[in-house]
Amino acid sequence: QSKSIAATETTRTVCTYCGVGCNLEVSKRNGEILSIQAPFDAEANEGHTCLKGRYAFKFYDHPDRLRSPMIKRNGEFEEVSWDEAYDFIVDNFKSIRAEHGPDSLAGISSARTPNEENYLMQKFMRAVVGTNNIDCCARVCHSPTALGMQRSFGTGAATNSIEDIQHTECILVIGANPTDAHPVTGAKIKQFAMKGNPLIVVDPRKIELVKYAKYHLQLRPGTNVALLNMMLYYIIKEGLEDQEFIDSRCEGYEEFKENILKLDMDEMEAITGVEKELVREASVAYATAKAAMEFHGLGVTEHSQGTFAVMQIADLAMITGNIGRKGVGVNPLRGQNNVQGAADMGAQPHQGAGYLDVTDPEINHRYNTFYGRNVPDHIGYKIPEMFDAAIKGDLKAVWIIGEDVVQTDPNTQKVIKALSNLDFLIVQELFMTETAKLATVILPGASFLEKNGTFTNGERRIQRVKQVVEPLEGTKADGQIIIDIMNRMGYEQPDYSPDTMLEEISQIVPFFKGVKWDELGDNGKQWPVLEDGTDSKIIHIEEFKRGKGKFHYFDFRESQEIEENGKEYPYIITTNRELEHYNCGAMTRRTGNVEILTEDLLMINPEDAKKHGIDDEDFVCVESPRGKVDIKARVTDEVKPGILSSTFHFPDIMLNNITSDIHDSEALCPEYKVVSVNIRKARKV
Ligand code: SF4
Repeated sequence: QSKSIAATETTRTVCTYCGVGCNLEVSKRNGEILSIQAPFDAEANEGHTCLKGRYAFKFYDHPDRLRSPMIKRNGEFEEVSWDEAYDFIVDNFKSIRAEHGPDSLAGISSARTPNEENYLMQKFMRAVVGTNNIDCCARVCHSPTALGMQRSFGTGAATNSIEDIQHTECILVIGANPTDAHPVTGAKIKQFAMKGNPLIVVDPRKIELVKYAKYHLQLRPGTNVALLNMMLYYIIKEGLEDQEFIDSRCEGYEEFKENILKLDMDEMEAITGVEKELVREASVAYATAKAAMEFHGLGVTEHSQGTFAVMQIADLAMITGNIGRKGVGVNPLRGQNNVQGAADMGAQPHQGAGYLDVTDPEINHRYNTFYGRNVPDHIGYKIPEMFDAAIKGDLKAVWIIGEDVVQTDPNTQKVIKALSNLDFLIVQELFMTETAKLATVILPGASFLEKNGTFTNGERRIQRVKQVVEPLEGTKADGQIIIDIMNRMGYEQPDYSPDTMLEEISQIVPFFKGVKWDELGDNGKQWPVLEDGTDSKIIHIEEFKRGKGKFHYFDFRESQEIEENGKEYPYIITTNRELEHYNCGAMTRRTGNVEILTEDLLMINPEDAKKHGIDDEDFVCVESPRGKVDIKARVTDEVKPGILSSTFHFPDIMLNNITSDIHDSEALCPEYKVVSVNIRKARKV
């Protein structure tokens, strides 16, 4: 008797890893996912994916998935029903709010979840709890980009689309390693350079793109501001400014120019460690191209002067007229798949949905009317401030969705101290992460393969995420969990559906005005989307969102970390990412990718290795003022002498035990990229 073979079904959705937002065609049979392909007609990825998007999906039904809500009693987690978990949460939230006020509660939303779920989470905190204490992982990655670009241009998103790589003549990649962290975009940049086009890479490491680059400005970590000032100086000195663009579209130029021209290039060369003639040549290449595109990542933002460097990149684009047309612009490579969307939806403490200032009385009135509740008009805690407030005892309860702050935020012991000091911690997760271990209540959420909604990629493209399989038994989609708790807290909210949620969002987020679930199609739309559905591949075409683009000048300042600890801890470790894994690795470590890269490794220059008697694969003890870790050495000239680099994908190393919680002065993004350490050989394997 022949068995009937079930047909293979395919569903088109969007990758859950990085901000490139690759479309995926997921095939399943008998309810099980078989494989993932990349559709050729996908504008975001044109038939390509990387090792993560295509192969790293088996985490979705991994035996480690959390499958029941749990409450910690007497130090042990006990499985409970959803009703019991909800009642416990609501009782605690209500009593903490009654006793300590709404600002004693906070939420950390997830940039891995769709827009609609982020929107709901911030709505819950603002309208139901009554606090602006809501933030997301953008704080620890691109918050300086959002703030810096808002100050320069009026909006904090990429100005152009990735397809513009076909229309540019020069690419500047600064503080980003796209072939590992944004591989599909990285491949396009590589192809651009392989055709002989000029590629400028500004990075302390010899990243893969350096092999194809015409210029590698291998600066000392923490000196972006000095290097960007050098570029701006040479552009002005060589008379390569686009004066017409500056005069018609910008303001603040004369004062800016005066400050730049006072700089001493010998001094800047000494600070950055990059020969001034090389910087001059690269600057000329950028400024003389008819169209030059810029990409940056966390190597720009995760610094104490991160926001300033972003504004200098905006200066570079404006001074050369590289804004508002094809093949140009300032294009942050967003890390998490939906970090753009999480911020767009208001998962940040100073701006609600649509980047509207919560302290503005008119906006406050608008939110109050829209949500039918009084939303506070003072700025809430950013993530680092949440930890400080928890340690002080001012913050009592936190709800964290899909973010392993213990493993990925800097200065792990401080994060643990803060979370342990809370009265109540909810962690909504797929796995028992390092953060989940500290929870009072665990809620098992669903993965991207189990839910519907939209993700917004790094080029402002709002794309549909479609459910491929039902949520695993015992789990729920995160949006429905938030709605269940909203209803139990006395705020009526209909059951989760992405189209009705998008309809609500389109009424409050100005640049989502014309976004409708049924009209997004396979390739989505790039915001701003006008009421008639027209979208925007390029922004700031005729004028900037703020009217005139604004020039800003900044002096280089040595990092506080180097000033205070540099003598005793003379090496600098700078954190990075590897292709195979994603951030805390909770998902990729539970896929075949773990067989390719099994652990975090420490990059160390051969000269330094020799000095300390360290061979490849020896364990090295790396110590900073915060703590120490033992990590296996990879001896390589990818880093200069005195510079080390490593990832924090694996919890057994817990690299963030040594990183510093010094942060960007403006956006409070931590300085993961400049950590003063000392090293010694620890042991042989
Ligand atoms: Fe996913 Fe990014 Fe890889 Fe595309 S490039 S498949 S979005 S991880």
